Amino acid sequence: MMFSFEKDIIINPNLENLIISADKVAHVQIENPLEHALLVLIKSGYSAVPVLDRSFKLRGLISTTMIMDTVLGIESFEIERLSQLKVEEVMNDNIPRLRVGHDFMRALGLTINHPFVCIEDEEGFFKGILTRRSIIKLFTKSLKKRSDL
Ligand code: AMP
Repeated sequence: MMFSFEKDIIINPNLENLIISADKVAHVQIENPLEHALLVLIKSGYSAVPVLDRSFKLRGLISTTMIMDTVLGIESFEIERLSQLKVEEVMNDNIPRLRVGHDFMRALGLTINHPFVCIEDEEGFFKGILTRRSIIKLFTKSLKKRSDL
């Protein structure tokens, strides 16, 4: 059986089987206090997680670095800010977004600079994430398959 790298990977418009679905993605909500977000980040071991609103719409991303930078005062850590501030005040809301129907090349380009990209549907509801890791895994599998032939 002939294997075409281009056909299997590059032209394949279906991102669906690469996506980590929303129910498996650790996330926080805009109105959560920073301390909750820090807890989720530390306990999950991820450096950044998506931020959603109550209706499950994608609003941004929050990372441990953003939180630490916010609580770092001039001379000491201002730990009280963890309970005073909400995720919405600190998150990055200018993030790349992908739709399930977007083509693979767009996803590939975005993962150059981002370890993961959030996926939303046409109405902005969060569907999951696409990680650089899953793309590299796909490439590795396909290249291995080709070299095996
Ligand atoms: P990985 O593909 O496991 O190296 O993940 C890269 C980044 O994607 C992590 O640092 C997280 O920011 C994010 N990520 C991956 N999997 C999840 C998940 N299940 N929940 C939340 N964020 C995730």
